[in-house]
Order: sequence, then structure tokens, then C-alpha cells
Amino acid sequence: MLLFTPGPTPVRENVRQAMAEATIHHRTPEFEAIFRQTREHLLALFGSDEVVMIAATGTGAMEAAVSNLCHHTLLSVNAGKFGERFGKIAAATGLVSVELTYAWDTPASVDDIMAALRHNSEIDAVAVQICESAGGLRHPVEEIAAAVKAFNPDITVIADGITAVGVERIDVSHIDCIIAGSQKAFMLPPGLAMLGLSHAAVAKIGNGKGYYFNLASEITKQRQNTTAYTAATTLVIGLLEVFKTIEAYGGIGKLYCDTARRAKAVRFALEAIELHVYPQSPAKAMTTIDDEQASEIRTLLKETFGVNVAGGQDHLKGKIFRINQMGLIDLNEMAWVLNSVELALALLGRRPYDGTANRVFNEEYFKSRLAPKEN
Ligand SMILES: *Cc1c(COP(=O)(O)O)cnc(C)c1O
Repeated sequence: MLLFTPGPTPVRENVRQAMAEATIHHRTPEFEAIFRQTREHLLALFGSDEVVMIAATGTGAMEAAVSNLCHHTLLSVNAGKFGERFGKIAAATGLVSVELTYAWDTPASVDDIMAALRHNSEIDAVAVQICESAGGLRHPVEEIAAAVKAFNPDITVIADGITAVGVERIDVSHIDCIIAGSQKAFMLPPGLAMLGLSHAAVAKIGNGKGYYFNLASEITKQRQNTTAYTAATTLVIGLLEVFKTIEAYGGIGKLYCDTARRAKAVRFALEAIELHVYPQSPAKAMTTIDDEQASEIRTLLKETFGVNVAGGQDHLKGKIFRINQMGLIDLNEMAWVLNSVELALALLGRRPYDGTANRVFNEEYFKSRLAPKEN
């Protein structure tokens, strides 16, 4: 079965092998060296001043960010399941939660955020998804962050980059905290979350909040290449192997470029077989199609063609399907997924099969190489 869900993503063979080695103790020079290298790779990837790894899923990092970096009122954007979660975390943490709600296909607007900030001077942190995975929606986070900082540099900007870090280059100039998780673009099993922090964020954290998710304790320890509690050694070893794999692939710049090209070519291919892309501003992490027959298409993909794509949640259950674009994806697999979608439409009597999806995908993806050569 081809795993094409936008998290978890498939773990590559060499990474599985690296994680299959005998367990090593975390308080050893051997592990500290691995931790230090992984930390350096993460600092470069995030482009942030500080970085923290915690043994938790992405939601743990969201909670750590909110509890340590919001001291009074959190303004969050809810355009899907994950945005909604920020508000729930704030409430559960005893903070005041103010939410801007959008339809799941609609990106947040800078004007709405600014109006909310002007209306409520108690807001000291803003939290938003870079890609809201519920609908594959890209929010204009960089613009939001710049506007927030221009309005008041003391307001902390928290960006959930769980389906954006490793997918595209994010400008963190105005972002104080950017969050990532292992089972999305990092192509690892779930259980490791990462936070990139600005100097201002580290200052605001101060002595930290809470116990396990106290970021101050982790920052102190991680600067010494160790962790406050037992490190998720296996996943950190896996993460270092992922960074080596990306380097061998040609570097993160090449990965960003290929991801953008592939996501665009997939979108064109699906539109060419008369499918509709759901979000008004699609993220590069996944391709989301809304369709009355989304469940039937998913069932055919799984049972007839061996392809597992994700469905929708809540009111979008049975209404959308989401195809992963994160990580290192083999083109032959991507082409098979598109071919399967086209075959599924033919089996449903929607349109005769003629190979359009694959033709458009290949023409678009290899556009620059297929162009007639000038002489
Ligand atoms: C997957 C995801 C999360 C939550 O991560 P878990 O690892 O399931 O806790 C948060 N935000 C976004 C945007 C996600 O895609």
C-alpha cells in the first residue's frame, strides 16, 4: 500500500535502518555528539536563534509554545481542526482565548488580525498555522507576522509549521516560535516535536511555565547538547539520518524546489481531469480535492489501486481527499497515484480513461526539460 497521507508520511529504508541500531544511553558523549549535529541542522533549517526538541507529538509542542509564550490572552486563527486546537490549548492552560474563525478553505486576513489586536490590548500572543492541514490551506503567515510586529513588537507570533517546515522556505524574521513535528515533512515516526525560537521568545519564556513542557529547562539543557528528561534517542538518530538523506538528495533547496514543482504539477493534473482543488490558497504540503464522491474515490484508491490518501474531518468527512506532497517523494509513486485517481473516476463512470492525469503531470513537471531547445 502506498502511504500518501499528509502525515504520517513513509519512513525511508535507510532511516529505519539507522533507528534499528542498539539503543544507546542518552547521557553519553556519543549521543551528545548526535544531538549537537541534529541541533545544528535544525537551527539552519528553521533559520531561528534557538531550537528545542521534545519527546511529544506536534500537539505537545503547540501546548509548550502557548503555555510558555502566552501570558494573558491568545489570539488564534481557526480555519480547521489544528487552528481550533490552539484555542482549546489556551483555554485548558488557563489563558484567555480569542479566536478568528474562517471557513476551512479561506485564508486568514491580515486586516482581521489587526482589527482584533486593536480591539483587545490584552492579547500578548498570536497563533496561526502556516498550513492548516484540515483543508490543505496556506495562511499568509509571513505577512500576518510582519503586521503584528509593526503594530507591537512585544506581541509574540507563534507559527504552527508542522506541515510547512521542510516543505518550503519560511521567512522567520517576524516569527518568534515555529513548530514542527517528526511524522510530517521529516518523514519519521511520530513522537518528536521541534520548536524554533527567536531571541525575544527565549527572553519572554524567562523561567518557563509548567513542568515537562517547561521550555526554560529544555533550553538550558539543550544548549549543552542534552535534554532535561530522557531524550527520544531513536527519533533524534532518525532525524540526523533524515538530514543526511536530504543532503545526499541535493540539499534542502532542491527539496523545496522539487516539492513546489510536484505540488503544482499534481494540481494541474487533477484539474485536467475535472477535479476541484478545495482551498482558496493551496499549501504545498498536500493537494486537497473536494468532491461529492470523495469517499468512493478513496475506497477505490485503497482497495483497487493500493493507494492510501487521507479523507476529511468533521463537516468535511466524505467531502474531500488529501494527497501528501511532503518529504522525498518518488515520482513514479506520484504518477501512479494520479493514474489511480483517473482510473477511479473512470470506474465511477465520470469520464473515460485516457491517461490525461499522467500526461499533464509529466508535461508540467518536466516543462523546462521538454521545451524545444534553441539553437
Ligand atoms: C499534524 C498536525 C498537528 C498535530 O500534530 P500531532 O503530531 O498529531 O500532535 C498540528 N498542526 C498541524 C498543522 C498538523 O498538520
